[in-house]
Amino acid sequence: MYDIIIIGAGPAGLTAAIYCGRSKLRTKIIEKAQPGGQVNLTEKVENFPGVFMADSKKISEVMIKQAKELESVEIDEFKDVKSVNCKDGIIEIKGSSDISGKDFSHQCKALILACGAQPKKLGLKGESEFTGKGVSYCAICDAPFFKDKDIVVIGGGDAALEEALYLAKFAKSIKLIHRRDQLRASGILQDRIKNNPKMELVLSSIPLEISGKNFVEKISVKNVKTGKESEINCSGVFIFVGYAPNTKFLEGFLTLDSDNYIITDEEMATEKQGIFACGDCRKRPFRQIVTACGEGAVAAHSAEKYLTNNNR
Ligand code: NAP
Repeated sequence: MYDIIIIGAGPAGLTAAIYCGRSKLRTKIIEKAQPGGQVNLTEKVENFPGVFMADSKKISEVMIKQAKELESVEIDEFKDVKSVNCKDGIIEIKGSSDISGKDFSHQCKALILACGAQPKKLGLKGESEFTGKGVSYCAICDAPFFKDKDIVVIGGGDAALEEALYLAKFAKSIKLIHRRDQLRASGILQDRIKNNPKMELVLSSIPLEISGKNFVEKISVKNVKTGKESEINCSGVFIFVGYAPNTKFLEGFLTLDSDNYIITDEEMATEKQGIFACGDCRKRPFRQIVTACGEGAVAAHSAEKYLTNNNR
């Protein structure tokens, strides 16, 4: 029986673990992949106070080390949680190992959901067919395959612009397709995009279809103001149009919002006693590493308070 189980080892889950471990609570983190979360998929972190232009991997390595060094904290990797149930104040988490295929079941007194989010798909014709054959959702993973190639990036938020700037180090040219005539991303990223000679903005345009023979060769787009359709020749299409929360295993157990995010109060408490949520899986207005860490700390504090108040 664990005091606390944390599902997800991104910045929110790792921060929660650091706080739980420092309170000497018997804590297990269950992570679907490797610890670190989405930070592992970015190149640099520039907006985490106290850390100047840090290599993203270094930030997650330090967070993981901080959690692992605490005596009462353990981390299980490559374990997929399939269900959560609660009876008489005991919470049961069931799933299976992605490595051995074996099922597992763990019990705890309080649960922190920090299961994060994953890139949204557009549902375009050709998108799933060419995933891994020119269509990608991760610049840091796939950029080297596009050295001196013409590529397209879809999206106008922070992720699209940040990833496009990373891709520009490899690609010959980048066309950034965005559905409106105003980008959503922060001003500093917009300035960098506009000053990068490899970058061309294709605004007020929506993608229609990705096509090619064995690999991506072109994408067709429609200008939403003029209605004109055109084709862009390219070897790669990188899609960054937001994220969807990893909450499928909670359907029917917790009430989720219309986009499947977990609803909590200010103390990160869900509608179910002893169950808390933090980070990108939680309904919130601003998704940053710094806000995920802050929420992780609050969730750990609330979970500890719950255990104390209920003599658990
Ligand atoms: P986002 O801010 O929600 O932006 C998604 C972008 O994709 C928007 O430009 C949106 O267009 C576009 N889009 C959404 N659905 C679309 C569709 N069906 N077809 C075409 N375009 C579509 O998501 P994000 O950029 O992934 O960022 C997620 C969160 O992480 C944000 O809170 C962001 O600030 C944060 N983040 C921060 C950093 C950083 O601070 N350095 C880096 C990455 C991410 P509209 O603008 O028209 O809605």
